[in-house]
Amino acid sequence: MGQTKEPSFRQSVDLMFNRAVALMDLPPGLEEKIKVCNATYTVRFGVRLRGQIQTFTGYRSVHSEHMEPVKGGIRYSMGVNQDEVEALSALMTYKCALVEAPFGGAKGGLCIDPRQYDEHELEQITRRFAYELAKRDLIHPSQNVPAPDMGTGEREMAWIADQYARMNTTDINARACVTGKPLHGGGIAGRVEATGRGVQYALHEFFRHPEDIAQAGLQGTLDGKRVVVQGLGNVGYHAASFLAAEDGAKVIGIIERDGALVDEGGLDVEAVHNWISSHGGVTGYADATYVEDGAQVLEIDCDILIPAALEGVINLTNAANISANLIIEAANGPVTAGADEILRDKGVVIIPDLFANGGGVTVSYFEWVKNLSHIRFGRMQRRQEEARHQLVFDELDRLSSQTESDWRLSPDFKQNYLRGADELELVRSGLDDTMRAAYQSMREVWHGREDVGDLRVAAYLVAIGRVADSYRAKGL
Ligand code: GLU
Repeated sequence: MGQTKEPSFRQSVDLMFNRAVALMDLPPGLEEKIKVCNATYTVRFGVRLRGQIQTFTGYRSVHSEHMEPVKGGIRYSMGVNQDEVEALSALMTYKCALVEAPFGGAKGGLCIDPRQYDEHELEQITRRFAYELAKRDLIHPSQNVPAPDMGTGEREMAWIADQYARMNTTDINARACVTGKPLHGGGIAGRVEATGRGVQYALHEFFRHPEDIAQAGLQGTLDGKRVVVQGLGNVGYHAASFLAAEDGAKVIGIIERDGALVDEGGLDVEAVHNWISSHGGVTGYADATYVEDGAQVLEIDCDILIPAALEGVINLTNAANISANLIIEAANGPVTAGADEILRDKGVVIIPDLFANGGGVTVSYFEWVKNLSHIRFGRMQRRQEEARHQLVFDELDRLSSQTESDWRLSPDFKQNYLRGADELELVRSGLDDTMRAAYQSMREVWHGREDVGDLRVAAYLVAIGRVADSYRAKGL
């Protein structure tokens, strides 16, 4: 083991695609059209920093324009390269189709270690990158809408939005050119935690189906399930924190860049997160066992493994040693095509990335709609809803006071019933519904077809089917 050659990330995604199309009846021309990446733009630009010009390399890859705008994050990492952005943009096409976000797939990346620069330098670099992309319509509210990804967040999205607005002063929809913006810069409530929240909702839906739980060799609910999380970044942190605080899951392992923490009794996710924020890693955290070779902890016995950082972390070298029953891919592409096969043979159930991390782009979709409609969700109807509920409440109250019986409304009923939904509640409701619907569409294929044995191939079948339908509808 270990010596066997692993395909590149791009090839790995194509292998997964091929496994699905082999079960479909698409004309070969259409199959090829869907699979290929339409275009990848490479930009090299210089920024004067610390007295000298530094040259940066960035990419924006558009995988499929069957729907526009195309959508996908911008990643800041030293590992960014053409193969990676193309793989990630292909995943965006299939992900958007699966969660019914009406977008084509794209992805961007800048080859940079953001920790090496201060805030002002990062702003200069980001604005210049945004300028290069925007002047070629590779950032555009109706054509190409980026979002955060690894190494970027609200701050970078705010700079990008502002840069676009400066270049397009009369565009009334300028704010819709990018999603994941801060709430006070045109963002939407619930976007920061959306991917992590989506992972939680995905698991809720999985645990609603006893047949599926049994397939993973598990039983019961999320309560008490032993979870290992790899990467406590934005996605991993929110997923772990919601699962522990709201569902009673026990986070027994957290893997980070500099090692891992293990505690069979359950780690305090908030405390570990705070420690990482102030110390840059898990090293030195006192309330758990520290394991220097973090990758080892991927292999420990647990119920649910959540890879939430990089692609390819579960590969030919370690797949056979994975002991988890269920893997939920919060990251994009954490399991290589070769590892996927090994894990399938072992009977491990994998909830695939296309679906598992689709919560991010789902709430991005809501943000984009909010920006285009220029009004926050719930603003028109919230008080009217409350007024109607008040009517019902008053009537119930009147009736109950007239009757002789002990029939009384419970004390918090009034408050709970009256309250109209605010934007955050609406976002959560939309996200929950999306995750349930997407899971059910995969599940129908998983259990409904003899030739489909796993959720990943089911996800690809659904997604590719929808992309093919949209091409056919256009007469292509
Ligand atoms: N970068 C995220 C992803 O991989 C979000 C993309 C988006 O919101 O457009 O899904």
